[in-house]
Amino acid sequence: MMNIFGMTFEQLGQLCADEGMPKFAAKQICDWLYAKHVDSIDAMTNLSLKARARLNEIAFIGRHAPVDCQISTDGTKKYLFRIENGERRMENYPDAEANSQFSTPNSQFSIPNSQFSIPNSQFSTPNSQFSTPNSQFPTLNSQFSTPNSQFSTPNSQFSTPNSQFPILNSQLNKYVEAVFIPDGDRGTLCVSCQIGCKMGCRFCVTGQQGFHGSLDTSEILNQIFSIPEFDRLTNIVYMGMGEPMDNLDNVLRSTQVLTAPWGLGWSPHRITVSTVGIIPGLRRFLDESQCHVAVSLHNPFAAERLNIMPMQKAYPIANVVALLRQYDWSGQRRISFEYTMFKGLNDDTHHAAELVRLLKGLYCRVNLIRFHSSPDTPFKTASSQAMERFKDYLNSHGITCTIRASRGEDIMAACGLLAGQAKHSSKQ
Ligand code: SF4
Repeated sequence: MMNIFGMTFEQLGQLCADEGMPKFAAKQICDWLYAKHVDSIDAMTNLSLKARARLNEIAFIGRHAPVDCQISTDGTKKYLFRIENGERRMENYPDAEANSQFSTPNSQFSIPNSQFSIPNSQFSTPNSQFSTPNSQFPTLNSQFSTPNSQFSTPNSQFSTPNSQFPILNSQLNKYVEAVFIPDGDRGTLCVSCQIGCKMGCRFCVTGQQGFHGSLDTSEILNQIFSIPEFDRLTNIVYMGMGEPMDNLDNVLRSTQVLTAPWGLGWSPHRITVSTVGIIPGLRRFLDESQCHVAVSLHNPFAAERLNIMPMQKAYPIANVVALLRQYDWSGQRRISFEYTMFKGLNDDTHHAAELVRLLKGLYCRVNLIRFHSSPDTPFKTASSQAMERFKDYLNSHGITCTIRASRGEDIMAACGLLAGQAKHSSKQ
């Protein structure tokens, strides 16, 4: 049985040809799947009975309602989606650890004299963050290697009551989250593209989970099509769990369904895709898509950025900005930079001055994001005054800057807090 939800017009055309259906059937199926968003083949009433019977034999529509929803006092809703066979995704990555950026002796994560370097920490061992017994984070495979628990590594932060992120549980790799953010006439949905994430950003709950597999096109789109607010959506942002440029085929195909005339027919400018700046993926995305791009910047100084974003080593932010300068941003397509503000780490005027220098002459905007601190994380929230000062500095030096309103903090739905956690054991 094949899942036809998420297929493109071309793919459905091939299917129809293979099954002896008329050419126009592909257009009809697209219309039912996307414009009318039905979730049953029997509902496709302008297909012949014979065609529907055949489709029911060989295909299904992979739509699944969320298994949980948490509602914030500000109206933000966080939906939890179960990913079928999510726990087996790593079988698709048999060499993940061997080939991983995390596993070489000269790992990009070995940062001498890092301000965050602690004995046996992720950043201080020759074999990198994911490989030592006392590592802050267990190995990608260690969770599958013990009979009782994925987080049973001695001294692992995940196994103690005082864990930095105690919200994780043994089912985390079966779930992803999407966040619906209502704002007047706007309805924005933040979607996930991976289960966990490889990028390891130190301030991000998702990043601390490690990587558990990528979503396919259907699973990305299901987050959009299967929430009750589907008809209220005006914008989609790919800023949930995972790095879009690390799952680019599926991300591009999903945006194709959203924007193509045979799909939802949305303007690509209603869609923003975020990235830490994986240059090969970003270059391809810029060439093949017209969607907006948001780059997670967070610190303009290379050494300081490396301390919080390991991918800085492979793809320095200066190189990312140099790539972006090769494209025209003076039209409707937009580039924005996300800048989460941490007290004492990136909120000083000299950071703002360096940011101005880095982005000078580039049509762009900077969004300042309030960090959500907790007693368990070394990162602290920058003060409102520091954020205002930073914003004013950028605006007065020719860079459009806004402080992004924080939404859904009370349900862990705000930026960097998505964990894909199943709340209720009955649903696991
Ligand atoms: S901030 Fe984004 S890229 Fe970084 S670890 Fe979190 S989900 Fe991954």
